Amino acid sequence: MAHHDSPYRITVRDLMHRPGEMREVELDLAAPAQLGEGLVAVREGSELELDVRLESVHEGILASVELDAVAEGECSRCLIDIALPVEVEFQELFAYHSGEAFEYEVQDDHVDLEPLIRDAVVLALPFQPVCRPDCPGLDPVTGQRLADHPELVTPEQRDPRWAALAGFEASEDQGAAEGSADSERD
Ligand SMILES: [Zn+2]
Repeated sequence: MAHHDSPYRITVRDLMHRPGEMREVELDLAAPAQLGEGLVAVREGSELELDVRLESVHEGILASVELDAVAEGECSRCLIDIALPVEVEFQELFAYHSGEAFEYEVQDDHVDLEPLIRDAVVLALPFQPVCRPDCPGLDPVTGQRLADHPELVTPEQRDPRWAALAGFEASEDQGAAEGSADSERD
């Protein structure tokens, strides 16, 4: 019972089997472990701000959670250190033990929010985090951070859509040229 005194375990004794009863809890907790394994993660020990609403329903306890945290790591384009706010909302039913298979159950007289929080935060983390939405990345030749050296930025690097558009126009021209060559042959 290593987690017996986990701050993520919230007692719901006062709500159990009393449908309609409701309680709100605000918690500032340290992340129990690193959350996420990508370029950014919420570090172990960093602060999680939780607004939790616990509602008693017939089947169990419905938990609604709003969570604020900060993920740290690096920009996927230019590799500088970044810190990103993470905001997550989720709702989950902790069912009373009934023999039916529920993913989450009320355990004795409490609910354990830790696995829910872990899953929700990990899902919310960006797969390709950026320091800013238009981060131009690194110069492919020198490796310099282009945001620090705007004189190095070509239009293609400034906006990847230009490169895609340029390629599209080139292939369209080619198609038109082939088409006219065919019609001349006829
Ligand atoms: Zn960047």
